[in-house]
Amino acid sequence: MKTAQQIANDVRAGESALVAVEASLAAIKARNEELNVFLYVDEDGARTAAEAVDAKVRRGEDPGLLAGVPIALKDNMCTTGIPTTCSSKILEGWKPPYNATVVDMLAAQGAISMGKTNLDEFAMGSSTENSAFGPTRNPLDPTRVPGGSSGGSAAAVAAEMTPLSLGSDTGGSIRQPAALCGLVGVKPTYGLVSRYGLIAFASSLDQIGPFASTVTDAALLLEAISGHDPMDSTSLPEPAPSLVAHVNDGVAGKRIALVRELVEGADDAVVASVNRAVEVLKDAGATIVELSIPELHLGLSAYYLIAPAEASSNLARYDGVRFGNRIDGDDVTAMMEATRTAGFGAEVKRRIMLGTYALSAGYFDAYYGQALKVRTRMIEAFAAAYQQADMIIGATTPSVAFTFGSKTNDPMAMYLNDVFTIPTNLAGEAALSVPFGTGEADLPIGVQLLGPGRSEARLFAAARVLEIADGR
Ligand code: GLN
Repeated sequence: MKTAQQIANDVRAGESALVAVEASLAAIKARNEELNVFLYVDEDGARTAAEAVDAKVRRGEDPGLLAGVPIALKDNMCTTGIPTTCSSKILEGWKPPYNATVVDMLAAQGAISMGKTNLDEFAMGSSTENSAFGPTRNPLDPTRVPGGSSGGSAAAVAAEMTPLSLGSDTGGSIRQPAALCGLVGVKPTYGLVSRYGLIAFASSLDQIGPFASTVTDAALLLEAISGHDPMDSTSLPEPAPSLVAHVNDGVAGKRIALVRELVEGADDAVVASVNRAVEVLKDAGATIVELSIPELHLGLSAYYLIAPAEASSNLARYDGVRFGNRIDGDDVTAMMEATRTAGFGAEVKRRIMLGTYALSAGYFDAYYGQALKVRTRMIEAFAAAYQQADMIIGATTPSVAFTFGSKTNDPMAMYLNDVFTIPTNLAGEAALSVPFGTGEADLPIGVQLLGPGRSEARLFAAARVLEIADGR
């Protein structure tokens, strides 16, 4: 498959955007039934959009950064008139009356939306096994999970159905599936990408970001969707950063911290990959320091209070009155109860109960209040680390892709998949996962690079050094 950059160049040079769109549709047809990647394919919309891009090129207008590039959207981003389900029965059949800002920005840059991808219900999970519409399979080994919650978006790129996709990352849901599917995945700085039209899970943590098979493509996509949006009150005021131009800046003179807590407990092959990445970066001119940030151990506990607390509030709106499915009852309360009982899956219910408990009178200070204090300590600990280093390196996940069902009976085992990714979300900072080396069954391993807010350009440059060393 051509990279997004190649497609955009070819389309600008006069190749019809329909070429890439038809190739994408053929790839989707070939494997979607087996892998369950797309919940909805917008065949007609994609062709119409491709023709519009071609017309622009013919008129001599700029067709945009992503001219004619097929892209897949996680099904928690609103698309006008197109079903948006969050992989939940409660939203089945709902068609949003508006587009998420990122969807409009992609169209403005000439990208072609191919449809909506599967996820863990309301983005709660790490394997896409929590989808009400069945799990997505990992294209590299269909007996294994693609990771989650953005498993469908990761699988779309890994199966070469689209060169790009968008996911959302609240605690790791872009970086973890990227690692498990051998892709580049980015959790941008909080506020860099608009959340308007992203269906909220935990609003203070959620962030939309790119999946791609190359570092340059990921940078291109992030550049296209970044920038201030007056429709999102938490959007950063600054304009979009320049990212692609800095991808080949290298790491000479950069201080990179290997953080003990970000490899502790990972499989041997994962630790070996991180150590090898450190050597590569050192050879490329970086100075390596070793650090311990003990506060990182508190991340998981704080996250599983803050995220469910916010979710319990955000999901209160699904009551059968305004959105999606309704199950009737004798009175309003019975209707709401029946709707929520039938509409939400087990994991979503678990989170709503956890969050409601953590916020309830008498427990608020002990749980939610305490978690907020931990979050502040986490922010301070990262800030102190970034006095000594320009970026941090660690593992993205403790292991390679795992098999179906191996963690579904033990929520804690599933939650532990995100120990290395969650701290970045709590701090509101930037991090990415880049494939580097392989482990068990020759499956890909992701190395994680973390930096302070708005350090994306620096992280891409380091990731590119690793990508080159890995032979890509
Ligand atoms: N796996 C984590 C959770 O279930 C993270 C999910 C996400 O980032 N959306 O909460």
